[in-house]
Amino acid sequence: MHRILHQLKRRALRVGALAIATVVSSASATETSPVQVEFTAAEKAYIAQVGSITMCVDPDWVPFESINQQGQHHGIAADLVQTVASRVGLRIDLYPTKSWAESLVASKDKRCQIMSFVNQTPVRDTWLSFTEPIFLDPNVIITREEHGFVADAKDLRNETIALPRGTMVEERVRQDFPNLKVVLTGSEPEAMVLVSERKADLTIRSLIVAANAIKKEGLFNLKISGQIPEYANRLRIGVLKDEKLLRSILSKGVQTITPLEREAISNRHVSINVQQGIDYRLVWQILAGASFALLLAILWNRKLTALNKELERRSVTDRLTGLFNRVKLEEAFEVDIQRSFRYKQSFSIIMVDIDHFKEVNDTYGHQAGDQVLVEVARLLKENVRATDIAGRWGGEEFLIICAQTDAQGALKLAQTLLLKFQHHAFPIVQRKTASFGVTTYLQGDKSNDMVARADAALYVAKSNGRNRVEVK
Ligand code: GH3
Ligand code: MG
Ligand code: MG
Repeated sequence: MHRILHQLKRRALRVGALAIATVVSSASATETSPVQVEFTAAEKAYIAQVGSITMCVDPDWVPFESINQQGQHHGIAADLVQTVASRVGLRIDLYPTKSWAESLVASKDKRCQIMSFVNQTPVRDTWLSFTEPIFLDPNVIITREEHGFVADAKDLRNETIALPRGTMVEERVRQDFPNLKVVLTGSEPEAMVLVSERKADLTIRSLIVAANAIKKEGLFNLKISGQIPEYANRLRIGVLKDEKLLRSILSKGVQTITPLEREAISNRHVSINVQQGIDYRLVWQILAGASFALLLAILWNRKLTALNKELERRSVTDRLTGLFNRVKLEEAFEVDIQRSFRYKQSFSIIMVDIDHFKEVNDTYGHQAGDQVLVEVARLLKENVRATDIAGRWGGEEFLIICAQTDAQGALKLAQTLLLKFQHHAFPIVQRKTASFGVTTYLQGDKSNDMVARADAALYVAKSNGRNRVEVK
């Protein structure tokens, strides 16, 4: 493991390249199988009439797409869109530009009808509509080697993030991570170069693009430090909003692409760079890559587990007193009813209601009342057994469920609590008493039956002068 970690430190940069095959195949494996394209009459007429459409692309987004020396569209997007176009019977004319920003302007000016490979964003929704996703790819956080693991980018303080201008990630980072200072760059590779050269602390890029750039530009002091799952690239063909027919034609085309085809296309542009003969170095790299991915997964899972636990705790807890809430009480009640019915066991409940509690609020204010409630909760919690469940039934009423306890046992507990109340120095009011209604499970009881009896007992306790226990 030590050697693996050592390799991991030195070679974390290669992780991206190695993980690609897995990512792409798992992304495609979940998709549906091919469907037959069936066009409506209007769509058929459209195709026959226009013949070819114009397309804007990112000229510098290797290996997704670029415009090569011959002025041709090249890369994963080029092959995918070409496949779609030929299936639906349309030709594509490339609208050449020098930069992504120039392509965006051309698209807004309606000089091209489609954008080859784009994430859908609220800003882009203003002038484009979108096909179904044609390709999925996760976004990762890239830092220099010495940077720690990033579990949540919201926790980063005083760090600078380099991002290519006008991208989906730029749009979302500004919204989601106001704690990060954004530095804009003119191109994809530049963002990573800035991080490598210490002019920025991190960038967020597509895994596929990052792996490619790290390798090609030799940015070997970079590593992948985390993931932002919500930021996966769901790449689609963007179509001018008023071209409704074109969008539905292309969407149908996109749906004919099979997972295998998608995988073959991405492998054609990515995996050649990775598979340069198997040697021990590569084996180590794969090991390092796998352990790093595993580490990421473990850390991520741990965070999720902790979050889930906290959520679960909150859903069964009363916010003011920290006791169980009514939801949890009713749930536990049902469990005991079932168990007692099946095993002919006994269990009891104690309904507790503070005496003249309204006076506390009226005399000292609602906040003082709250403080007394918190203290009552503490008193109850400290004086029931570990197997009993004490919770807040509502307002200034509490319920204690005493597992496997008969009427005698419950009566004893209620009397102990009564004494505890009588001798306890409460905050603000000093003395405060409570009344108790006790009842025990009778064969065939529903929870409502028991609550009704406990309430009736409580009512008797109140009528008989409060500060006492009654059993029904
Ligand atoms: P009794 O002895 O008959 O039970 O008299 P009581 O005043 O305790 O009973 P009543 O039902 O008339 O009043 C209950 C009071 O409890 C009224 C309500 O404002 C107060 N209360 C309920 N929930 C809370 C709370 O969360 N915080 C505070 N401060 N007061 C609460
Ligand atoms: Mg009450
Ligand atoms: Mg009361």
